Amino acid sequence: MSESLPPPLLRVESLGKSFAGRPVLSDISFNVHAAEVIGLIGRSGSGKSTLLRCLNRLEHPDTGQIWLADEEIGFQGTKRHPARAGTLARQRAAMSMVFQHFNLWPHRTVLQNVTEGPTSVRGVPRDIAIAQAMAILTRIGLESKAQAYPATLSGGQQQRVSIARALAMQPRLILFDEPTSALDPELVGEVLSVMTDLAGSGTTMLVVTHEMRFALRVCHRILFLDQGRIVDQGTPAALLQRPPDTAIRRFLASSG
Ligand code: ADP
Ligand code: MG
Repeated sequence: MSESLPPPLLRVESLGKSFAGRPVLSDISFNVHAAEVIGLIGRSGSGKSTLLRCLNRLEHPDTGQIWLADEEIGFQGTKRHPARAGTLARQRAAMSMVFQHFNLWPHRTVLQNVTEGPTSVRGVPRDIAIAQAMAILTRIGLESKAQAYPATLSGGQQQRVSIARALAMQPRLILFDEPTSALDPELVGEVLSVMTDLAGSGTTMLVVTHEMRFALRVCHRILFLDQGRIVDQGTPAALLQRPPDTAIRRFLASSG
C-alpha cells in the first residue's frame, strides 16, 4: 500500500503580478505542506517580497489563485466574491508576516504589541491573551521584557518580539521577509535560533532569506526565484548537487 500525503496547507497556482505593465511575478506555482519549512531565495528585485505580499493580500495578484486549506485567499463564498474586510483580516491572520523592519508599535509595551492582534482580530479575552503572550515570550526568552517599550530593546530582541506577535495569532503558517537583514551581525544568531526552534517544533514557515547557511540547514525545500519565476527548487541536498554552472549553484557561490 502506498502512503499518500495529506493535501497541502498552502497552494499557489499560476500567480502573476505586474507593476506598470512590467511583470514582477510570472506563473508562480508551489505547494506547502503543514510543518514544512520552505526557503525563498533569489537576488534583490527577483520578486520575493512581492510574492509574500501577494500571499496575504498586501498586494493583489493579477492572475492565479492562492488556497489556504480549502479557502481561496481574497475571496469568499462559492461564487468568488471579493472577501469582505472581516474575512480578509481572518485570512491574513492565518498567515502572519514577520518583516525586515519589525514594525512594532513604538508606544505600546512588548506585551501590548503581542496581545493586540489576538484581542482585536481574534476576539480573545484580554486575560487569556495576556497569559498566552507571556507563555510565548517565555518560550523566546523575553518574559522579563514584557513591560518594556520596543525602543529600549536591541534589534534582535525587537525582531524576537515581532515573531512572538506573529505566533500569538496562532497562524497556520508564518511568512518571514528577510527577518535578519536589518540586524547588526552579532544579533542575527539569536533570531535565527528562535526560527530554528520553531522549525524544529513543526511550525509551517515560508522564509525569504539571504542567510544561505540557515536556509540550507533548516529548510526542507528551497525555491529559487529569478526575475519573477521559480527557476529551480528542491531539497538543499539536491540543489547543492546541481552542476556548478547552473544558476542556483552560481547564486549560492556568490552568496557565500
Ligand atoms: P525582492 O524582495 O526579491 O528584492 P521585490 O518583490 O521587492 O523583490 O521587487 C520585485 C520587483 O518589483 C522590483 O523590480 C521592484 O522594484 C518592483 N516593485 C516592488 N514593489 C513595487 C511597487 N509597489 N510598485 C512598483 N514596482 C514595485
Ligand atoms: Mg524583498
